[in-house]
Amino acid sequence: MFGKMKDHIKSSFQEKLLNWFFLEGRSLPWREQYNPYHVWISEIMGQQTQMERVVSYFTRWVARFPSIESLAEADEKAVLKAWEGLGYYSRARNIMRTAGVFLSEYSGKVPESYEELLKLPGVGPYTAAAIMSIGFNKPYPLIDANVERVFSRIDDIDLPVKQAKAREKIQRMAEDLLVCNKPRQWNQALMELGALVCTPKNPKCSACPVQAFCLAYDAGTQYQRPVPAPKKKKVDISMACVVLLKDDQVFIQQRMKEDLWGGLWEFPGGTIDDGETPEEAAIREVAEETEWEVAGLKPFHTVVHYYTKYRVTLHGFFCCLPEFSGPPVLHAAENCSWVTLETLPEYPYPAGHRQLVKLLQTVGIPDCW
Ligand code: SF4
Repeated sequence: MFGKMKDHIKSSFQEKLLNWFFLEGRSLPWREQYNPYHVWISEIMGQQTQMERVVSYFTRWVARFPSIESLAEADEKAVLKAWEGLGYYSRARNIMRTAGVFLSEYSGKVPESYEELLKLPGVGPYTAAAIMSIGFNKPYPLIDANVERVFSRIDDIDLPVKQAKAREKIQRMAEDLLVCNKPRQWNQALMELGALVCTPKNPKCSACPVQAFCLAYDAGTQYQRPVPAPKKKKVDISMACVVLLKDDQVFIQQRMKEDLWGGLWEFPGGTIDDGETPEEAAIREVAEETEWEVAGLKPFHTVVHYYTKYRVTLHGFFCCLPEFSGPPVLHAAENCSWVTLETLPEYPYPAGHRQLVKLLQTVGIPDCW
């Protein structure tokens, strides 16, 4: 087994990988100063998001919120807008809450303590270890999907990496190989190898600095590692919503804080029940959420959005708010607003509704009929 390798082999492996990272590592914005605030934001953004997107969101983020203090004092709409498009909005709300804790309890700084970091909302063992090792250069091993893949190939692990036995092996390797006087460089070198060379589909073994140590390369099994987990089918969800119109304005509402997309804005709507048509569901949802009775909907557009576990089909309709309708009685939202087409994009939306907002910018708002 590779895990407990002899000291001279281990040193050679570490040296080769660190040298490679020194020469080939990408210059990413949070690597310029290793400010723990930057490392924290980049790590939260990097969960489930491609690096190119992280870099562009991160760059805009630090220009908009250059310090923890400016972030803690920003309003929720501005923070959610800066996050819009990254998905998993609970991450942005946790960032806001955590920034408040940093300001009130740690003088606006990220605490240099793994245990203290673990107490913060949205900070689990991986993120705490990332902040400690990359932000503060402390010896904490770090295992993300890239590291799992690299180790499963280096040690030719023939089990799905999420299985307990494989996880234990990988954890032992991460601890055994950690370069304790250079944890910041070492952890990033491993992840960078996975991102640039030991890539999921076509590992570039001929350019790999640690090819000589790779058991999967020796056995010719690198394309079968890591062993994939059994596939789960995406769950289909059908939804309907209504773009309500009045005097060249459209109605939007802000979801309750505790909701899945809490704090984001949307057109009223919801899930289509069994036996309902999308139009029937849209009419029912408007009544349930606002107590407005609407009829005579016109189809606007249907959009599809993919999440990790779900495929959501959203049917959008237009409807003119009937004359003499009173103000809405909100049952699924904490705020609402009538907004013009020009100001509509200033609000943060969940993915499907954002697609409809973009389309509205192209097709415009129809006249009422
Ligand atoms: Fe990955 Fe190939 Fe390098 Fe092995 S030799 S670590 S499979 S890139």
